[in-house]
Parts: sequence; C-alpha cells; structure tokens
Amino acid sequence: MRKTIIAGNWKMYKTIKEGQELVNALNRELYNLQNLDIVVCPPYTLLSCLADMLTESNIALGAQDLFWEEEGAFTGEVSAQMLKDAGCQFVIIGHSERRQYFAETNGSVNKKLKAALKHALTPIVCIGETLKEREANSTFKVLEGQLTGGLSGINQEEAARIVIAYEPVWAIGTGKTATSAQAEEAHKYIRDLLAKLYDLETAESIRLQYGGSVKPENISELMQQPDIDGALVGGSSLRADSFGDIARKAAGVLKS
Ligand code: PEP
Repeated sequence: MRKTIIAGNWKMYKTIKEGQELVNALNRELYNLQNLDIVVCPPYTLLSCLADMLTESNIALGAQDLFWEEEGAFTGEVSAQMLKDAGCQFVIIGHSERRQYFAETNGSVNKKLKAALKHALTPIVCIGETLKEREANSTFKVLEGQLTGGLSGINQEEAARIVIAYEPVWAIGTGKTATSAQAEEAHKYIRDLLAKLYDLETAESIRLQYGGSVKPENISELMQQPDIDGALVGGSSLRADSFGDIARKAAGVLKS
C-alpha cells in the first residue's frame, strides 16, 4: 500500500504573516488526520519560521526548488543542506514553471534530484506535457524523456524514495483538470515505465501524484484511480478550507 501524499505548492504567494495564519488554520483543520502525508511548500522566506510552527504537527515542510551544489558563490541559490537546516523534509524539483521561466532542463532536474537524495530530502519530481505536445500525440514520448533524463543514474533504492508528480502543463493554474481517465492513463504509463527502468516492486512502491487544478470537487474521483496516490496542489493550497477539504477527501478514499 502506498501512503497518500497531498502537497501544497504555494508558489510566490504569502508574506510571513499570511503564511503563519495559513499554517495556524491548517493545523486546526487537519490535526486529527492520519495515514497520509500532508506537505506545505511555501517560498524560502517562510521555511524556517513555519518549521517552528510545524514541529508538533502532522504537516511536513517542503521547498519549491534547490540548487545542486553544497555551497559556494552561487548568488540567489539555496542548497539541499540549507533546506534540511531550515526544517524541510520535501523539495519540489522540475516544476513546469521552473522549466518554462527558469530554463530548468532534465539535466538540471537530475543534478537537483541527486543533491536532494544525498541529503535525505524527499524529492517531488514534476513531469508533464504541454497542450501542443498532447495535441501532437507526443505525451508519452515527453514523459519518457523527462523521466529517463531526470532519473538518469538513480538506483533502485534511491528511486523508491522519490515522489513523481504528473502535471500536464495545460492543466496548471488554468482551471482545466485532466479527466480522471486522462490522468490515470498517464500515471499508468509512468508506473509501467518505472517498472522497465527498475523492477515491478520498485515501480509499485513509488508514489505518483496528479497536479493541475486540483480542487475539493475533483480530488475524490482522481484519488479513486489505481495509480494516483495523491496530489500536488497549487491555487487550492492557498486557503485552509480548500486545502483542508482536499486532504480530508483524499484521506477518505479507500483504495482496493
Ligand atoms: C502546481 O502549481 O503544481 C499546480 C498544480 O497548480 P494548480 O493546482 O493551481 O493548477
């Protein structure tokens, strides 16, 4: 059985005060929810103060990116060690917005992934096709390139520690969710590919999240799909009521 994982990507939202208010509200909403991983990924400026507020909580902390070097003259960057030091357990890698606006490539994703694993951070590696790629019937080809490139040189034991988020770019922040059938088709493809890259047991143990306009209204149907183990949530993670609803509904879906 794979443990459900619901993660909130706050992107570039929330001042320190706003972030503290949201975490206070989430702690109140979700304190008694068990048997799933709940993660919030605020901007860097909030990590350390939220870590203090989450010490007794069932909510874990994640960052939205990292740099692969340990330290050095890399102005503006933050290392895996620094994220651990700030209290992170998770880190998002290769989000489509980073690929689109900050020239993230499968090669840089790979280096970041290795740095995260080395420092015992759980990486949430994002992959997904654009609308143009879907319409050109190249979704699977794109996923294969991103997965094999991103996971190059990662062994079986390391792969088992990774979470993969399938996020079709056309569904992120657009209000358009992939249908549960489209999402499951992609997740199944990813799991089958992982079985080829590693083995069936490893592929069955890796958690796959869906991301793209997840809301309280669509989470249950998505979670009922056999290969969807959770969600990476953007817009709906910015409010305690919607993120709380998503986490509760996801926790309530019983998988066969
Ligand atoms: C995301 O940022 O990863 C995301 C899926 O955003 P949204 O839920 O707003 O589409």
